[in-house]
Amino acid sequence: MKCPVCGGDARIIASSENKSVTVRCSIDGDFEIAKEHLDTLSKLNMGARHLVLNAAILLSVPGRLPRISAPAFERPSDFLSHSSGLCFE
Ligand SMILES: [Zn+2]
Repeated sequence: MKCPVCGGDARIIASSENKSVTVRCSIDGDFEIAKEHLDTLSKLNMGARHLVLNAAILLSVPGRLPRISAPAFERPSDFLSHSSGLCFE
């Protein structure tokens, strides 16, 4: 499959009851995405998709994979302002 974030080569390494998939991307690493959000993500431009992934990473629980779900879509601009000067120069 194509990575839903960067469009590069990626594969699904796990999937749970049609609810979410775990994607392994050589660029973005491993992350989960709820299947209902695959469509939403594909409609964003690449910069916005990376912001959503970044938000998911910041929201993730230690020891668990980042999960792209509703909260990551709701607040990416908050994370952008908090991290400006660190990651977005
Ligand atoms: Zn990727």
